Amino acid sequence: MKPADEVASLREQIRRHDYLYYVVAEPEISDRDYDKLLRRLRDLEDAHPDLITPDSPTRRVSGEAIEGFAHVDHALPMMSVDNTYSEEELRDFDRRVRKLLEDRPFDYVVDPKIDGVAVSLRFEKGRLALAATRGDGRVGDDITANVRAIRSVPLTLRGKGHPDVLETRGEIFWPWAAFHAVNEKREEGGLARFANPRNATTGTLKQLDPSVVAERGLQFVAHGFGVIEPWPRDAGTHSEMSALLREWGIPVSSAQRRCAGIDAVWAFVNEFGAMRANLPYETDGLVVKVNAFDARDQLGATSRAPRWCIAYKYAAAQAQTRLIGVDYQVGKTGQITPRARFEPVLLAGTTVRHASLHNFDQVDRLDVRIGDLVTIEKAGEIIPQVVAVDHDARPADAQMIERPTRCPECGAPVEKDPDGVYVRCVNPACPAQVRERLIYFCGRDQMDIEGAGEKMVEILLDHGLVRTYADLYRLADRRDGLLQLERLGEKSADNLLEGIERSKRQPLARVLASLAIRHIGASNAELIANHFGDIDAILGADSEAIQEIDGIGPEAAASLRKWLDGDTGRSVIEGLRAAGVNMTQPRSATPTSGAIVGKSFVVTGTLEKYKRSEIEGLIKQNGGKVASSVSKKTDFLVVGADAGSKLEKARSLGVTTLTETEFERLLSS
Ligand SMILES: [Zn+2]
Repeated sequence: MKPADEVASLREQIRRHDYLYYVVAEPEISDRDYDKLLRRLRDLEDAHPDLITPDSPTRRVSGEAIEGFAHVDHALPMMSVDNTYSEEELRDFDRRVRKLLEDRPFDYVVDPKIDGVAVSLRFEKGRLALAATRGDGRVGDDITANVRAIRSVPLTLRGKGHPDVLETRGEIFWPWAAFHAVNEKREEGGLARFANPRNATTGTLKQLDPSVVAERGLQFVAHGFGVIEPWPRDAGTHSEMSALLREWGIPVSSAQRRCAGIDAVWAFVNEFGAMRANLPYETDGLVVKVNAFDARDQLGATSRAPRWCIAYKYAAAQAQTRLIGVDYQVGKTGQITPRARFEPVLLAGTTVRHASLHNFDQVDRLDVRIGDLVTIEKAGEIIPQVVAVDHDARPADAQMIERPTRCPECGAPVEKDPDGVYVRCVNPACPAQVRERLIYFCGRDQMDIEGAGEKMVEILLDHGLVRTYADLYRLADRRDGLLQLERLGEKSADNLLEGIERSKRQPLARVLASLAIRHIGASNAELIANHFGDIDAILGADSEAIQEIDGIGPEAAASLRKWLDGDTGRSVIEGLRAAGVNMTQPRSATPTSGAIVGKSFVVTGTLEKYKRSEIEGLIKQNGGKVASSVSKKTDFLVVGADAGSKLEKARSLGVTTLTETEFERLLSS
C-alpha cells in the first residue's frame, strides 16, 4: 500500500474506533491494539511529514505550550439552568410550562446532570474549530488546544449532512475509573491525590500543556446546542438532534430519556436516583427539557435562564459531626495517612465513623483540629471526606493534629517525599507495610488470590504462617498448620490453597504490578512486561532501556531499577520464581479466525467451572467481545445457575443461550 493510502486508512480506522468507544460504547479492539494503530500512523507521518494534516488523530497534542487563554464571545449566550430540589418544585415547573404552551401537546427529554465543566464546541465544515468554556455565559476562554487532547471529542465529524456550522454544548468530565487511575499514579509518585473529579477537571483544563490533558482521560458528553447553520430539516426535537450528533460522532449520554409528561419524569428521577451511585461518572441530578425546539421558542427565557428547562438536584450527602481523634495509617509503600475519627453520623443511609484526611498538607489547608465541628461529604463512590471546618465553633481545648516524626507502627524514623506531600516510614520490614503489601499482592486487581482477603492475610500473619509473598506458595506444605487455625474449615483452607496455586499462572504484568513498587501500577507493569516478555530480560535491562518503552517515564524506570537492584527486590523475585510463579508474559496475538471471533457475549448466573473474570478473559483471548447487558446485538448468553432477568431478556430477543459445556464446545470447534 502507498504511504498516503495507508495513512488515510489508519486515520479512518482510528476515528471509527473512537466512535465505537465513546459514542456507541461498544469497543471492538483493546486499548493496546488501538495504540498500535496510532503508533503506526505516527511512524508513517514521521517518515512522510508532507502527509501530516492538522486533523490527524496524532495531532491532538501540538507539543507546544499554550501562552494563555484568549477570550471568546458566545454568539448565543450559554445560560444557566434553574435548580429544583423537590417533586413539588418540579411539578410547579411543569404547570408553568403547560400554561405558557396553552395546553398544546409536548414531551420532555431528560439528561443526567454530569458534574463537570460546561463547554461549547464549534465545528465548521465538519472540523473542530473552537472549544470554549462557559465563563460568565457571554464571554468564555478559548480552550481549543486542550480540548483537542480529549479523545472523545472528534476532530472531524463522521458521515455526511452535517451543518456548515455546528455548535454543541455539553460537559467535560472525569469518569471515576480514569480519575482513580490517575490518583493511584500520583500517590505512587508521592503527589497529592485529587479530592474530587469536578474541581480537578477545571484545573486540568487550565493547564498550559495539552499533553497533561491527554494523559488524564477526560471525556465529553453533549447535552445542548448553540449556533447551527443550516438547521437540519429532520431535527425538530432535542432527541432527534441528539441522534444526529451520535451519527456524526459526538457522544450523547446513553442515559438520555424521553418522557411523555411530568409523571414519567418523576418516575425517572426515582429510577435514576437509585442507579446514580453506580454510574461510571459523578452526577448530581437530572436536567429536564421540553423536547421540541419550536415549543422552546414559544417559552423563551428569563434574563437568567430558559423557561423550557430545569435541573432536579439530588440532596448532597453531607453531614456535620465532631472530630474526636486522628488515626495514622501506614500504607504499602510506607506512606502515613491521617484518618479522621468522629462521632458516628448518618450519611447517605449508612453510619459513618471515619473519613480520609488524605495527607498532612490537607490537614493544614483545612486548618482542622481535634474537637472541631466538621462537615463531611460522600460523593459518588469515594470514601467520605472532611470538606469544611466550622472555625467559629472551635472549642478552647481543640488540639493540633501532629505530624508524626516516627512511624506509629514500628517506631522507625519517617521521611517526607522531596517532591510530594507524603510522609513515609522508611523501614521495609515495618509490620504495617508487610501486612499492607501482602493484602495488596493477593488483591483482585493484582494476583487475584481467591480466599486471601484482608482478614485471612491478617490471620496468616498473626500465626506466623507467612511473612513474604513466597511464603504464600509454601502454605500447601503446611496444610495441617492451616487447619489448626481457629474457624478455618477444610473447605476454606482448600479454597485458599487452590486460589494460591491458580495465581502462579498469572502473567508477568500482574506479578510486577502486585509488588507495590512505586510508580509501577497496572498500566506501567503491562507496558514493561509486554516489552520485555520475561523477568530475566527486565533484570538485565538498565534504566535507559526501560525508559525507551513508549509511556514509561524516567521516574518509573528509575524506581523499578532501584527496587530490582535492592536486596529486597532480588530476594522477592528469586523467592517467587523458586515457588513456581510464572515470570513470563504471553505474547498476545488476537486470533482472527475461530467460532467466536467478533461475536458478542454476555455471561450471567453462577458458573461452576470458571470465575467470571476467567471466562470473560477466555472470550476476549479468542477474539470475542464481552458486554454487560443483553441487547439485540448479543450473539450468545452464557448461562450459569440462578440466572435472572438477562436470561428472560435473551429469550425474548431470541439470543442463543449456552451452558458452560456448550460454550467449551463452541470454543474448541
Ligand atoms: Zn513503620
